[in-house]
Amino acid sequence: MPVKRLKKVKDMTDLTRDFFQELDHQDVLAHFREDFHLPDGMIYLDGNSLGARPKAASARAQDVVAREWGQDLITSWNKNGWFHLAEKVGDKIAGLIGAAPGEVMACDATGINLYKLLSMALDLRPDRKIIVMEGSNFPTDNYMAQGLIQQLDRGHEIYFAEQEAILAAITEEVAVVCLTQVHYKTGHLHDMAAITEKAHQVGALVIWDLCHSAGALPVDLNGCHADFAVGCGYKYLNGGPGAPAFIFVAQRHQGKARQPLTGWWSHAAPFAFEQDYRPADTIWQTLTGTQSILALSVLECGIDIMLRVDMAKLRAKSIALCDYFITLMDQHCDGFGFSLESPRDGDGRGSQISLSHSKAFAIMQALIAENVVGDFRAPDIMRFGFTPLYTRYVDIWDAVMCLKNIMEKELWQKAEYGQLTAVT
Ligand SMILES: *Cc1c(COP(=O)(O)O)cnc(C)c1O
Repeated sequence: MPVKRLKKVKDMTDLTRDFFQELDHQDVLAHFREDFHLPDGMIYLDGNSLGARPKAASARAQDVVAREWGQDLITSWNKNGWFHLAEKVGDKIAGLIGAAPGEVMACDATGINLYKLLSMALDLRPDRKIIVMEGSNFPTDNYMAQGLIQQLDRGHEIYFAEQEAILAAITEEVAVVCLTQVHYKTGHLHDMAAITEKAHQVGALVIWDLCHSAGALPVDLNGCHADFAVGCGYKYLNGGPGAPAFIFVAQRHQGKARQPLTGWWSHAAPFAFEQDYRPADTIWQTLTGTQSILALSVLECGIDIMLRVDMAKLRAKSIALCDYFITLMDQHCDGFGFSLESPRDGDGRGSQISLSHSKAFAIMQALIAENVVGDFRAPDIMRFGFTPLYTRYVDIWDAVMCLKNIMEKELWQKAEYGQLTAVT
């Protein structure tokens, strides 16, 4: 019988390719791979950066362009549901992150949504000046906070803390704690319930960035009494390059705070064309302007697949894929200079494994040349994202064997692999 967790896997010294193929035969999620287009021969381990294309996306995009836009033109806002599409897709995303209908909008970029929420949170805690964030977080979150407090010019400060130091940093001076649940570089997973509870004990609010959580693991925002959240559409939700992000405002906070990007779609009555601004008191308050209907339509294809998935099963497979990857690295790539930067314990990480190596960039280029696609994060991290809907167990075996070959033959030494590209 297939074993799922590393603790047991570790004892296995005789893992073979056949063993992984057998796991694929028994995998209840295996059929979801059919819902995605994947290039022949490619082992794609970068779905944490750009999810694969749902097969349905092409036909959907074609229909929106040819029929809705081409034939129905302006009437599509009513006839084809364009006006409510951001809310409709938001409601679907709500089902993936433990939110209720009416609490999520699919719109804008993650950074822009974070800006809105940070403003709203600071507005709800006018006497407090501290924002707690993780210094090593994906930079845009920190940059947006820095830009906002500079613009507000009311003496706010960001207190940067890391991992275990975060709980202690949440004091009664704190207005808002703003954290990414799964760390983009290491895959470290924060305890959403514990941190949210601590923040509420001292009267602070919490914004959760779910960029590496939504579609990667079960998330229960309302179960944790989270206040606000943002997340990404193009990673584990498979919404396409530059897909709309999402924004969550708990029902109890809606209409209570000022959303600073006061575009007409956030107005209480956008089509009344009033002279003066009057905010909506629903999730519509988080909108700014007209969203890309093409992008929302394609994102919906990715979400629709995800809504059919049992998230507990997805999580179990994600942990198993990562565990096997670690085990095979231990067994076959020991002594090549790799260090595991992700938590070894599956419960403590998201759906990725990061390795550091002094030649990380060149090694990743060599892997990509062999059609095993992960990515590089400066200064020395190789990231491998494991997306249980289309990553097979056998892919883990093949990827590690490919890496082993590259290290044994020092294929990464090729001069062309030293050339840094614009996007890594
Ligand atoms: C991917 C990611 C983003 C993306 O931000 P955009 O504004 O949508 O480009 C933001 N924050 C984190 C933590 C991410 O991982």
